[in-house]
Order: sequence, then structure tokens, then C-alpha cells
Amino acid sequence: MRVQLLPSSFEENGGASTKQHLTCILVDDRIAFDAGSLAMASSMLQKRKVRDVVLSHAHLDHIAGLPLFVDDLFSTLTEPIRIHATAEVIEILERDIFNWSVYPRFSELFNQNGPVMMYLPFKPGVEFRVGHLSTRAIPVNHKVPSCGFIVSDGFKTFAMSGDTAAMDDFWHAVNEASDLSAVLVECAFPNELQELAAASHHLTPSGLMNELAKCERSDCTFYVVNLKPAYREQTIEQIDALNIENLKLLEVGRVYEW
Ligand SMILES: [Zn+2]
Repeated sequence: MRVQLLPSSFEENGGASTKQHLTCILVDDRIAFDAGSLAMASSMLQKRKVRDVVLSHAHLDHIAGLPLFVDDLFSTLTEPIRIHATAEVIEILERDIFNWSVYPRFSELFNQNGPVMMYLPFKPGVEFRVGHLSTRAIPVNHKVPSCGFIVSDGFKTFAMSGDTAAMDDFWHAVNEASDLSAVLVECAFPNELQELAAASHHLTPSGLMNELAKCERSDCTFYVVNLKPAYREQTIEQIDALNIENLKLLEVGRVYEW
């Protein structure tokens, strides 16, 4: 299984920045988990292959690239872009994004081949298929209804927390998962901003340490994601100081093979 966190911004030299402003994680170049930078940072190959988008929640940094992705592909699609999300997230997308004011309601539009976008609601806790993957959404602890995911291609499994503060159900699922290679877990703010982290339901390095203590796995690698760019260096220092074996940063743009 190939997993890649797409870049979301550029350095002065035009290359991709290591900072993560947006969230879009591609699996095997075909399935997108969140769509923050999907339109902006996906390759031509990925644009040709991605027809399934799974959303953790409707915050802008996770959906910003979705309307543009459908728009870019509109005339060439031979099948609709399938949006997998909870009923609550679908309602927000239709009400606040694809509402003809912010962007067209693609779910009502067709090209010469048929519909261009459709919704496939999933229920948290119930396994569902997305392309070649089997996926289970686990409710996590964010400011709005949000899910982490356990994702398997039948050979390997990985987990991702999505945006969250302290959580239990996710770790139960991680502890029970078979053939687990990696766990992606968020850590948005440095310890000094614990109050802001609590208010916005995100983790700090000390919160992350508490979370990892709930995990009974020693057979997989933990990758930190979602570091807020403004505090990135400070947060990385504090994560390093935790001195936890098998805890790394997920590098933006790098393709991981599990
Ligand atoms: Zn969020």
C-alpha cells in the first residue's frame, strides 16, 4: 500500500514546502482521504485515477481542494467523483459549499457521460468498501463531528486519527487491528498553546504522549501529522523531546510503502 500526504504550499524556490496547511492523504494514487490540497497538489496520474474521496470532517483545510478537483475534471469524467462521508458532513457540503453561491451544486450536474459527483454516506463503526480498500470510520474528539479511519487493502492496514483531542475508541480499534503497519496521529499545537488546543479540540505533544500511552502496539510506526505551520519547529522540538521510539513525522510529499 502506497500512502502519500500531498503538499499544500510552496517554498520560495517553487518546490513543495514541508509545512502542512491542508490535509489530503492519497492511498495507491487512487483513494483520497480528505481533499485539502487534492486539486492543487495531485499529479496528472493521480487526477486520472482518483474517483473516491473519503472525508473525515468538513473543516476547510480538509475539503478546500474538493470543489476545484471536480471542477477541473468536469468535462473529462466518465464516472462520478464519489464522496464518502457521514450524513452530517454531506449536509454541510451541500448547504455551505456546493450551494450555487460558494460553488456549483455538482451533485445535480451531468457531463456528456453522466453525473459528475455523488455522495456515498458511511456510518461510523461500520466497515465500508472504497475502491480496493476496506475502511472503518471511528468517531474521534474534534470540535465538529469527525472521524479517524482504519484502512486495509487486504494485506496491510494503517490507521489515521484525523483532527482530534484525547480519544479512546480510536485506540481500541488500533489495538485490535490486524497487520497494522502505521498509525497517523495529529499534533497541531505546541505545549504552550494547550488552552487553544483544548478549545479547538487538537493535541499538543504532551497530549500526544498521553494518547500513545493508550496504544498497546509495539509492532507499528507512529507518524505525526497536522502540525500547524506557525508553530512547526517548536512542536517538532517538543515531540522529539518525548523520546518515543517509533514516533516520527510524516513527511509531506513522501510516498510511504506499507
Ligand atoms: Zn478540523
